[in-house]
Amino acid sequence: QLKGKTAIVTGSNSGIGLGVARELARAGADVVLNSFTDRDEDHALAARLAKEFDVRARYIKADMSDGDECRALIAAAGNCDILVNNAGIQHVAPVDEFPAAKWNAIIAINLSSAFHTTAAALPMMRAAGWGRIVNIASAHGLTASPYKSAYIAAKHGVVGLSKTVALETAGQGITCNAICPGYVLTALVEAQIPDQMKVHNMDRDTVIREVMLQRQPSKQFATVEEIGGTTVFLCSKAAAQITGTTISVDGGWTAL
Ligand code: NAD
Repeated sequence: QLKGKTAIVTGSNSGIGLGVARELARAGADVVLNSFTDRDEDHALAARLAKEFDVRARYIKADMSDGDECRALIAAAGNCDILVNNAGIQHVAPVDEFPAAKWNAIIAINLSSAFHTTAAALPMMRAAGWGRIVNIASAHGLTASPYKSAYIAAKHGVVGLSKTVALETAGQGITCNAICPGYVLTALVEAQIPDQMKVHNMDRDTVIREVMLQRQPSKQFATVEEIGGTTVFLCSKAAAQITGTTISVDGGWTAL
């Protein structure tokens, strides 16, 4: 279905990014994995993907907190039909105590990186007459919670950037959308469960249902495969006129 297309997924050596890269590879796309490290295991991930799905796969190191490195990632890939802006970090603190360095890092990695990669990729997509940009925003791109000011500002920004890029590329065979996941069970989220069990003196299932998934009416985590499948859908023919919008994969969170 996506044979011959090259997909670049930022922040894809774990979690949602890796899940999205796997589903794109399953659909036949060649994939470029990325993070800021350059370990043997990063390159081994790409080799495993290539073998499992019979596609070409590479790992390219680039730090998404640095605009020049974001643009260099696209240049090094040499080709970009599908761009998935996924790299992201979180920090939790009241706004008046929020460390400025954390604010700057979150805005850079979660928001500005998507500006830089998009700017670098658009000329390639326009030359090809086809392109798909999928930004991994969040339910927190549409709603807020206390103590996550930088993350929520960045994710709302990603939704706004997606709409603007959609308007600038409309009618050019290029679409740009944002996926807004609710809670997804990644290693990052899994690691919070034991602490929450201690703090609330609850068993694992109760912590998941009552604390972590308090705002997710389905009381089920979304999976990385579901975020990947939604990305593949946005790259499909059926989605050619879907642009400048958000797709929530949040078990009903934003319907509340
Ligand atoms: P994760 O920590 O598993 O993945 C984050 C990825 O970004 C990792 O591959 C990491 O190496 C990479 N990364 C971090 N800093 C980077 C940098 N400076 N340069 C390049 N890569 C960098 O977390 P995840 O849950 O898979 O999150 C992925 C995205 O999904 C994030 O944008 C996050 O905000 C979003 N999201 C996650 C959830 C959830 O519940 N897990 C919900 C909504 C949105």
